[in-house]
Amino acid sequence: MEELEGIVQLAGGAWRNIKRNIIEQRKKESMGDLIGKKIRLNYRIINSYPWVNAETTPTGVGYGNESARKRIIKMDRAEREIEDHSIIGCYHTHVYERIDKRVYMAKEDKILLRGLMKNYKLEETVQIIGTVKIKDNSKRKSGEKTTQYKNKLRITFSDNSTSYDVILAAYILNQKLCEKIPIKRRYVRVVAKKE
Ligand SMILES: [Zn+2]
Repeated sequence: MEELEGIVQLAGGAWRNIKRNIIEQRKKESMGDLIGKKIRLNYRIINSYPWVNAETTPTGVGYGNESARKRIIKMDRAEREIEDHSIIGCYHTHVYERIDKRVYMAKEDKILLRGLMKNYKLEETVQIIGTVKIKDNSKRKSGEKTTQYKNKLRITFSDNSTSYDVILAAYILNQKLCEKIPIKRRYVRVVAKKE
């Protein structure tokens, strides 16, 4: 079935990298690029890349190494014309204890992300924002569980002692507007190749 309105489709590999970034950062924010392409009204995210040089705190993220970021932007812009997929936005997470609402695009976020879009020379981006709640000594069993809400995604996972409860929302951002757009996971069936 064709979707009438645009959605953000998050592929497994992209989520896996965001998930690892969340685990590494723990109670600091995580941040990275989203790689994919827009197909008609849908934004297909096939990969994500954490900002390995970022300076992150419980309430914010900075470039850290600005020249490293410049190199990534320069390369992405050079390759964008010839590659099928390129940076089409960013993801970042909020620490649950540090915010009053579960998922939202803060004023500071818009300022940072719009500045970034100018650097990337992107007129429109997709932004994924997650809220991460971490519980130690959790009784939640290992394994990942995804709950699809109308506009949001909730993904929970655990290592048998620490559990993570992540709610993701997506936004289309340009220099004027910021609109929420439904986010869904995209499952790709893996078919074994015959030798
Ligand atoms: Zn934020």
